[in-house]
Amino acid sequence: MSFMNKVVWITGASSGIGEALAYAFAKQGARLIVSARRKEELDRVKKQCLLPDKDVFVLPMDVADASSIANKADEAIRHFGGVDVLINNAGVSHWTKVKDLSMDVIRQIMEVNFFGGAALTRAVLPSMLERKQGSIVVISSVLGKMPVRKQAAYVASKHALQGYYDTLRMETAGDGIHVMLVCPGFVRTNVAKNSLNREGKPINQDNERIQKGLDPADVADSILKGIEQGKTELIIAGKPERTAIWLKRMFPGYFTRFMLKQKML
Ligand code: NDP
Repeated sequence: MSFMNKVVWITGASSGIGEALAYAFAKQGARLIVSARRKEELDRVKKQCLLPDKDVFVLPMDVADASSIANKADEAIRHFGGVDVLINNAGVSHWTKVKDLSMDVIRQIMEVNFFGGAALTRAVLPSMLERKQGSIVVISSVLGKMPVRKQAAYVASKHALQGYYDTLRMETAGDGIHVMLVCPGFVRTNVAKNSLNREGKPINQDNERIQKGLDPADVADSILKGIEQGKTELIIAGKPERTAIWLKRMFPGYFTRFMLKQKML
């Protein structure tokens, strides 16, 4: 699949993996719809895409604002006459044990990581089904496959994505719709700094493993390749995270004991 002239809608395009995806698709001549809350950051990304002005549509939105999703999706679909690839990438984490986790923070995490993307998918899917083509890509995490301490709501949101989009793939088999889950390990972005504390505010503190993580540009390239190849799932992670996933599946008891010895994992 060539992405030349394809319409790609990326949420969370103002930073990190989403921003890197915008540049990777731009290099291939795609037409982009870039969304996130911060318009000025989206304008910066648009400029750095080095595409003709008309080929990048900046569509600021808060994916947690359920009341605005249908209108935003309408606007996105109408702008270029359809969406070929939807990338549900916007996400937020938290850094709080369950005993200190407020319901507000749990809801905030689920609204952004799960409900926002689910609503966008629901809004875009009918037009994809009508055209019998489209890719729905969801940026989950290796934490969609295993637990870690202090991130229970994030882990839950990513596990929810796994079940939801695996089901969607089954339901749309034969309809021309490609559904791909992406499970990155540590990637060098602002995700740790943007993690919420118990008051629901960013902790503003980086994490060494994230700082030393994969380059978002490499992650983006792997995602584009995955779409081209029609993959259903991509685990883009270093050996420690891959090993942990394997341990969790094969030896869950040992996995728990092993993880309890780890500083962060
Ligand atoms: P960043 O914090 O750098 O980027 C997060 C993006 O999501 C930003 O563009 C942010 O934009 C956007 N966003 C956050 N909340 C909202 C909202 N309510 N509405 C719209 N956009 C929102 O982190 P990453 O690039 O790392 O995160 C991208 C995805 O990758 C997330 O789903 C994350 O869970 C996942 N991931 C990341 C890993 C990593 O190690 N970095 C590992 C595994 C998964 P703005 O603030 O402008 O709204």
